[in-house]
Amino acid sequence: MIKFLDNKLFRYLSVFLFLNSSILPVKSSSALAAWAINTNGVLELRTKSNTNLKAYFQKANQISGDRFWVDFPGELKNPRIIKGNGPIKEIRLGKPDKGKTRLVIEFKEETYLKPLTWQMVGLDQNRWRIKLFNPKYSFKKIGEGLVEKKRGNIKAKQNLIYKKKNNYGYLKLPEVKRNKFEVVIDPGHGGPDPGAIGIGGIRETDVVLEVSKIVKNLLSEKGVKVRLTRTNDVDLDLPPRVSIANNTDADIFVSIHANASRGKRRDINGLETFYYRGWRGRLLAKRIQKQILRVSPGSPDRGVKQGRFYVIKNTRMPAVLVEIGFLTGRLDARRLEKITHRKRLAYAIAKGILEYLDKVG
Ligand SMILES: [Zn+2]
Repeated sequence: MIKFLDNKLFRYLSVFLFLNSSILPVKSSSALAAWAINTNGVLELRTKSNTNLKAYFQKANQISGDRFWVDFPGELKNPRIIKGNGPIKEIRLGKPDKGKTRLVIEFKEETYLKPLTWQMVGLDQNRWRIKLFNPKYSFKKIGEGLVEKKRGNIKAKQNLIYKKKNNYGYLKLPEVKRNKFEVVIDPGHGGPDPGAIGIGGIRETDVVLEVSKIVKNLLSEKGVKVRLTRTNDVDLDLPPRVSIANNTDADIFVSIHANASRGKRRDINGLETFYYRGWRGRLLAKRIQKQILRVSPGSPDRGVKQGRFYVIKNTRMPAVLVEIGFLTGRLDARRLEKITHRKRLAYAIAKGILEYLDKVG
C-alpha cells in the first residue's frame, strides 16, 4: 500500500514515537483535537497529550495525487472531506481501521513537493508542526478547531463539510409529492431598506433576493408551488409579507436574511435559523440549519433558536427566518459575494424545505 515511505520523515517521527510511548485504548475517541494548514504551508496539529503519531508520504499514482497522511489513535466520529485550495486538492478525515483516525492531505497534480526535507516537529506535549509546501503557492488557510488551545472541547463539527458517504448524495434533492405543497419565500428587506451592509459594500437585499430566486427555481422543479414576497428590489413592509403568506394556503413560510454584527466585527461569522412557535417550525428550522451548515465549512453553527421576528410571529403556518451568514464577517462575506456560494446556500435551503415537506407532508 505504501509505495514510498520517506525515511528521514519516519526516522524523525520515530523519535517522538519513543518519547511519547503511552498508548491510548482502542475504544477511545480520536486523539486529533485540531488541525490547520496555514498560508505559509505549515500543517499544525493539536492532539491529546502523549499521542503516538505516524506520518506517511506517497507519490502520485493514476488514482490520486501526492498524499501525505498522519495516523492518530482513537476513533474519528465523523469521516469527512474538506475541499482544498491552492496546491491542496482535498483533505480527508477518515478511519482506516476501527479505533483509528487518519488525516490525509492530497495535493494537486502539478504541485512540486520536497518530502525528503520534511520534518515533523513536536512543539509541546500536544502540538506538532510540519512544513509541507512553500508560500509561493497562494493558499487560503484551512483548519478545524483551535490549534493553539491546549484544553477544552473543540467544535470540530462546526467545520464539518460533506460527509464522505454523502459526497454525491448531497447533489440530489429529495423528491416530494408533486403539486401538493405551497411555500412562501420571503427575501428580507428591499427598496430603500438594503438591510445589512457588509464588507466591500455588499448588501443584504441583493444577496437574499438572489438566493431566494434560486430556492424558488429549485423547489418549482420538484413540483412545489412557490410564491416570493418580492421579486425585485422593492420596498415591502413587514405586514404585507405576512398577509401575502396568510392569504394563501401555504404550508410553510421561509424568510431569508443575512446578518451583520454590531461594530461590524470581522471575526464574527456564522449561521442561525429562527422559528417562533411549534414543533413544525422548529423541525423546519433544524432541517434548513443543518443543510446550510454543510455548505458553509468553517462558519460557526449559531444554532436553531426561538425568535420573535414579526414575519415569523404573525404568519399562520410554520415559519422560519434563516440568517445565511454575516456580511460583516471576513469568512462569510468573502463567500456570500460569490454566486457559487449563493447557489449552494439556495440548494441547501431547498433541501431542508423538501426534507421537511417529505417528512411532515
Ligand atoms: Zn435582515
